[in-house]
Amino acid sequence: MIVINRHLGNRYVSFALTCLVFFGILHAIFNNIERTVPTLSPFLFPTLTVFLLVFHLFIAIFMIMKYWCDKQRVFLLAIAFAFVGSALLMAGTLSCFPTWLNPYSLHPNNYNDAMIYFMMRNIMMASLFTLSTVLFTLRHSALTRPMYGFIVGLLLIFTALMIILAWLYSSHSALLSLDLVNNDTRQSTILWTQVINIILILFWVSTLITMLVITRLRNLFWLSGCFLCVCYIITLSTLMTTDYVGGFVWYRARFFEAIATLVIIFTLLQDVFSLYRQSHLKYQQSYQNSIRDALTRLYNRSYFYESLSHSLSTTTGSKPVSVIVSDLDRFKRINDTYGHLQGDKVLQFVANLLMDSVRPQDIAARIGGEEFVLLLPNTSSEAAKQVAERIRILLASFDRETTHGELPEPITISMGVYTTTSSAVTAEECVERADKAMYEAKETGRNRVVVFS
Ligand code: GH3
Ligand code: MG
Ligand code: MG
Repeated sequence: MIVINRHLGNRYVSFALTCLVFFGILHAIFNNIERTVPTLSPFLFPTLTVFLLVFHLFIAIFMIMKYWCDKQRVFLLAIAFAFVGSALLMAGTLSCFPTWLNPYSLHPNNYNDAMIYFMMRNIMMASLFTLSTVLFTLRHSALTRPMYGFIVGLLLIFTALMIILAWLYSSHSALLSLDLVNNDTRQSTILWTQVINIILILFWVSTLITMLVITRLRNLFWLSGCFLCVCYIITLSTLMTTDYVGGFVWYRARFFEAIATLVIIFTLLQDVFSLYRQSHLKYQQSYQNSIRDALTRLYNRSYFYESLSHSLSTTTGSKPVSVIVSDLDRFKRINDTYGHLQGDKVLQFVANLLMDSVRPQDIAARIGGEEFVLLLPNTSSEAAKQVAERIRILLASFDRETTHGELPEPITISMGVYTTTSSAVTAEECVERADKAMYEAKETGRNRVVVFS
C-alpha cells in the first residue's frame, strides 16, 4: 500500500514539475516575443483561433475513431463532444472578427461576443471533461442499450444547449444578453474580471482534481487530459492580470492554448503508436504460439509439414532436401520410473540439444510425444547422416551429473534419414520413409542412425 502510494505520489510530483517546466518555457518565449515585437498583427488572434479550431476537430475525430475501436469506452464520446463543441464555438469566435477575412468589412470586431463564446467553451469543456472522467469508472460495466442511449442523448443535448446558449447571449439574438466586454473601450466588465473568470478557474480546478483522483494519471491519455486542464487554468489566470481585451495577454492565452493542444495531439499520436507496437508484439507472440510446440518451443507438426512442402517444391538435383525422424529409446520407462514431470524435462533437454545442433535455416520440430524431426534443406544424404550421428553421440554422452539432473539417467535416440532431390515426392512420403528408417534403427538395436534405401 505504502509502495503504491509512493508511486502515485511520484507520478503527481512528476506531472506538476513537467507542467511547471513546460509553461515556464512558454512564458519565457512569449515574454521574449513581447519585448522584441512592439505590436502584434490584428490577424494573429483569429489565425491562432483557426489553428486551434483545426486541432480541436482533429482531436474530436481521433476520439471518435478510438471509441469506434472499443465501444465500451463511452467516456471517449464525452471528450469527442467537448472538442466538437469547442470547434463550433471557435467558429462563432471567428465570426466576431469580420476584418480577418475581409479587411474592408464595415462591421467592427465584436469582443463581447468573442468573450461569450470563450466563456461557454470553457463551461462546456470543463463539464464534459468531468463527465468523461465519471464515465471512465463505468468502462468495465456492461451498459444496457437504454443506458447507452441516455448517455449519448445527454452529451448531445448538453453540447447543443451550450452552443445555442452562446448564440442566444451573443449579439445575434436579442433574447438574452450578457455584458462581459465594452466593445468601444475593449475593457472587460466587473462581471468578467471578478466573477466569471474566477468561477471558470475554479471549475477547471475541480475538473483537474476529479481527473487526478479518479484516473490517477494511469496512462498517457489521462495525463494529457490533466495537462489540458492545467493549460486552461493557466490561460484563465493569465487573463486575470488585465481587463483590456485584445492586448498581449490575450495573444499569450491563445498561444498557450494552441501549443498545449498541439502537445496533446502529439501525446495522442504517441498513444496510437504504442498501441500499434503492443498489438504487433501480441500478434508476433500469438503467431509464434501457433507455429511452436508449447512444451519444447520447437516448431509444431503443421509448421513442419508446411515448411517441408515448400522446400520440396523448390528442390533440384543440386539442392537435396533431407529429413531426419528421431524417437527416444525406451522413453516410457523414464516416465514410469521418474514420473511425467521428469519425462517432460527430458523432452525439453533433447529439444534444446536439437535446436542447438542445426543451422538457422533448418527446422527442428516435435511431431509426436517423444518424436522429433529435422528438416535440412540443401543437405545431401551423407551430410544429413553426419548431422544425425553427431546428435546421437552428443545425446548419449550426457548423464545425470553433466546435465545437473535434467536427464535422470543417460538416454539414447534412434534416427532415420531420408534425402530426396525430386519435387514429385510429397511431405508425407518423406516423413514416412525417414520413419521407416528410424524403425529399422529400433529393430536393429536402437541408439543408431539408419539411412533409408
Ligand atoms: P521405444 O524405444 O520403442 O521408442 O520405446 P518407448 O518407450 O520410447 O516407446 P514409445 O515411443 O511408444 O513411447 C512413447 C512414450 O512417450 C509414451 C508416453 O508416455 C510418452 N510421452 C508422450 N508424450 C509425452 C509428453 O508430452 N510428456 C511425457 N513426459 N511423456 C510423453
Ligand atoms: Mg520411443
Ligand atoms: Mg515414440
